[in-house]
Amino acid sequence: MEDKDRKDEYEKICLMCRRPESRAGKMLEMGNDVCICQECLQKAIDSMKFSGISYNDFMNFMPDFSKGSSTEKSNGGDSKNDGTKQEIVEDGSDPSNPDDPEKKGGKENQGKHTGGIPTIGMINLSDILGSMGMGVPRQQIKKKKEKEKKPVKQLDIKNIPAPHKIKASLDEYVVGQEHAKKVISVAVYNHYKRIASGTDDVEIEKSNMLMLGPTGCGKTYLVKTMARLLDVPLAMADATSLTEAGYIGDDIESVISRLLTAADNDVERAEQGIVFIDEIDKIAKKRNANQRDVSGEAVQQGMLKLLEGSEVEVPVGAASKNAMVPMVTVNTQNILFICGGAFPGLEDIIKERLNKQASVGFLADLKDKYDDDPNLLSKVTVEDLRTFGMIPEFIGRLPIIFSLEALTKEMLVRILKEPRNAILRQYQKLLALDEVQLDVDEGALEAIAEKALEKKTGARALRSILEEFMLDIMYEIPKDDNIGKVTLTREYIEHKGGPRITLRGAEALPLLGENCSG
Ligand code: ADP
Repeated sequence: MEDKDRKDEYEKICLMCRRPESRAGKMLEMGNDVCICQECLQKAIDSMKFSGISYNDFMNFMPDFSKGSSTEKSNGGDSKNDGTKQEIVEDGSDPSNPDDPEKKGGKENQGKHTGGIPTIGMINLSDILGSMGMGVPRQQIKKKKEKEKKPVKQLDIKNIPAPHKIKASLDEYVVGQEHAKKVISVAVYNHYKRIASGTDDVEIEKSNMLMLGPTGCGKTYLVKTMARLLDVPLAMADATSLTEAGYIGDDIESVISRLLTAADNDVERAEQGIVFIDEIDKIAKKRNANQRDVSGEAVQQGMLKLLEGSEVEVPVGAASKNAMVPMVTVNTQNILFICGGAFPGLEDIIKERLNKQASVGFLADLKDKYDDDPNLLSKVTVEDLRTFGMIPEFIGRLPIIFSLEALTKEMLVRILKEPRNAILRQYQKLLALDEVQLDVDEGALEAIAEKALEKKTGARALRSILEEFMLDIMYEIPKDDNIGKVTLTREYIEHKGGPRITLRGAEALPLLGENCSG
C-alpha cells in the first residue's frame, strides 16, 4: 500500500520525449516502470514500417495497453489493478489478472506468438527504441505530479524569531557590521513572514538583497551564519562560473539544483531556502564588448526570472541535466536570493557623482572630500550600480541594497577573539586537549591585525597569519610535558622574540621559548 502511495505521487514520463503525463496525455505502460506516450509509440511504429514489421505484428508483442493506461489505474481506485502495476512483466503478461489471456496461455501462448511469426519473436522494447536511436534506461525518469502536490509546509509565524532576536544571534558570530546585521535580520524576518502569511489581498514583495562590501569583510559569513541559525538550506554559487545556457560553464539554473542538494532533495524545503550568489559584480555588462556577453549581461538577463519567481526544472542529485537523471520542478517564488560583491571601481563612480553634486551652487565642497572615506560604498545608489554595468531590471529585482564596512584594526582584533568560534578560541581548545593554556597579549593581537590589514584581504588574512605563528608552537609543545602555558607576544609576531612559555607549577617564572622563534 505504501509502495502504491509512493508510486502515485509521481507522474509518468514518456521514455522517449520525456514529457510528463499531464502534457503528453495517456501513457502506455511497457512494464518495469517504462512508459511511452501515444505520439512516440506512433513514431516507433512508423519507423518500424521501414524494417517491414506491421502494426498488428507489433501489437501482438506489446503489453495489454487497454489495461495499462495510467489514468485508469490511478483514478479507478481498484486495488487489484493498482497492484498489477508493478507486476506487469516485460513480456506483457499480467500475472495477477486471471482474465489475462497472456497468463492463461503462459508459455504456450508465448510460443504461439513466436511460432506464428518467427521473425517477430526477436522484438523487444530495446529493439524498437534502438531503431529510433535510443537506449533503454534502467530506471524511468519521474517528475512529481503537479496536481497532487501536497500543500507547502507553512512556517509557523510565531516561530520566526523577531528581527532583534535574529540580530542578537548574529552578534555572537559576526563582529561589527551593525547596519548590515540589522538590515538582513529585518529582511529575512519579513521574507519568512511573507511565506507564512501565504497569498493575501496585499501581496508582499520579495526581499531579495544585494550586499556590497570589500573582500573578506564577512558577506559570505553573514549569510552562512544566518542560514545556520534559521536552519534553512543554503546554496552558494559564484557568479563568475555562470554562463548563459548552452555555453561552457554552469547554467544559471544550476544554483537551484545546488539548493535542492542542500535541502537533501526535499523540494518543499528547497523552495524556502536561501541562495547566495557571490562575486555578482563579475557579471556586470562588459563595456565596449563587440561579441555576445555570455557571462555578463546574458547571465543577468537569465537570472531575472529566477529572482522574481518561476518554475525551474532541475536534475535531482546531479549538477547537469542528462537522460539518466530524474528531474523535479522547483518554484523559486519563496527562495530568498542574496547577491554579494566587492564592486571594485564602484567607489570611483560614487565619488564622481558626489563630487559633481558637491561642486554645484553654494553647497560647493572640497573636491577631495570623499577621497579618504573608507565607507563610500554605503552611499551607493541604483544609478551608480547602473553606471557600473548592472542592468536596471536586475537591480530592480534586488530591492534591498546595503553595504558592509571595511574592517578596521579594532574590528580585526575583535574578530580574532570575540566570536563564538573565533580562531583564537579554536587554538585554545586544541591546546587545552594537551592541557596547555594559550594566552595572547593585547600587543600580539594588534600586531596580527596590522599584518592582516597590510594584506588587504580583510579578515581572511587573520587565519593564515595566526597559522604561521601557531605552527611552531603546535609542533614544540607536545615535546615537553612540563609546559603549562604559552603566551603570544608582540615580539613573537614581529619576529623579534619568542612566545612566553610558562612551566607547570612555575607560573611566576616566565621563560622565553628558544625553539619557538617564529
Ligand atoms: P567575503 O566578504 O569576501 O565574502 P567572508 O565572509 O568569506 O568574506 O569572510 C572570510 C572570513 O573572515 C570568514 O570566514 C569569517 O571567519 C571572517 N570574518 C569576516 N568578517 C567577519 C566579521 N565581521 N565577524 C567575524 N568574522 C568575520
